[in-house]
Amino acid sequence: MTAQPQYSTATTVEDFQRHVADVKSRMAAAAARVGRSADEVRLLPVSKTVDSDRLRLAIAAGCTDLGENKVQEALRKSRELADVPGLRWHVIGHLQSNKAKFVAQFAHEFQALDRLSLAKTLNNRLAVEGRTLEVLVQVNTSGEDSKFGLPPAEVAAFIRELPAFERLRVKGFMTLASNSPDESRVRACFQTLHRLREQGQQDVPAGVELQELSMGMSGDFELAIEEGATVVRVGQAIFGARALPDSYYWPDEPDM
Ligand SMILES: *Cc1c(COP(=O)(O)O)cnc(C)c1O
Repeated sequence: MTAQPQYSTATTVEDFQRHVADVKSRMAAAAARVGRSADEVRLLPVSKTVDSDRLRLAIAAGCTDLGENKVQEALRKSRELADVPGLRWHVIGHLQSNKAKFVAQFAHEFQALDRLSLAKTLNNRLAVEGRTLEVLVQVNTSGEDSKFGLPPAEVAAFIRELPAFERLRVKGFMTLASNSPDESRVRACFQTLHRLREQGQQDVPAGVELQELSMGMSGDFELAIEEGATVVRVGQAIFGARALPDSYYWPDEPDM
C-alpha cells in the first residue's frame, strides 16, 4: 500500500498468463504465511475499463470469471462476449435500483448488496428473468463516507431479512478497506469483516450462507488473505494500471 507499484499493461495472452501466475503465487504465499491452503482463496479478475478485444486475451489465459464495477459497461461486454462459453460476470460496484434489471439479466454474482429495497427490486427482476443470483452483502468497514455498504452494527438485522428474497443466493460479505498507507488500519477493516462472519455464523437464517469474504485488491490482497479472504478482486495487477482515478468508480453521492 505504501509506494504505488507500477502495474504493467498486459497486451498478449502470455502477458496475462504471467500476471495471473504472479498474482496466484503471491496469493499462495500469503495463505501459507497464516497456515491456509491456497485453494481456499479464489482470484476474481476485475476488468473494468478493459475493452472486449483485450478481454479475449485474458480469457484465453484462463480468466473465466470477470468482475465489473459499472453495470452498463458489464452488460455491454457480456453481449460482445456472448460467444464465450462459461464466462461468468460479477458485478462488484454500487448499484442504483433503476439498474437492477440489467444485473438480473446477465450477472452470475452481485457483491454490493447494501439495502433491502435493492434486494426486493433484484428479487422481482430475477423472477421476471427466471434466474437466481449469488449475492454478497457489502459492509463499510472503514467508516469512510466515500465507501458504500452497511455499517457493521446493522449487518445482523439485515441478514435476518434476506430469506424473504428467494432468488438471491446469499453467500457472504464484501468490503473495500481503507485506502490508508497505514497497514494496521487496512488490516482492521479486513478483521471487522472476518469477525462479522464469525458472529453471523452463530445464527444463520435458513437458506443463507455466510462463508465468503470478498476483500483485497491489487494493493492489499496479501493482507486480506492473511486476514481470511476467500475471494480477492484484482484488476490492475492483472490488466495494468487504469487511466481513470478510483474516484470515478466510487462516486461520493450514494443514491438510495
Ligand atoms: C476496481 C475495483 C477493484 C480492483 O482494484 P485494483 O486496484 O484494480 O485491483 C476491486 N474492487 C472493487 C469494488 C473495484 O471497483
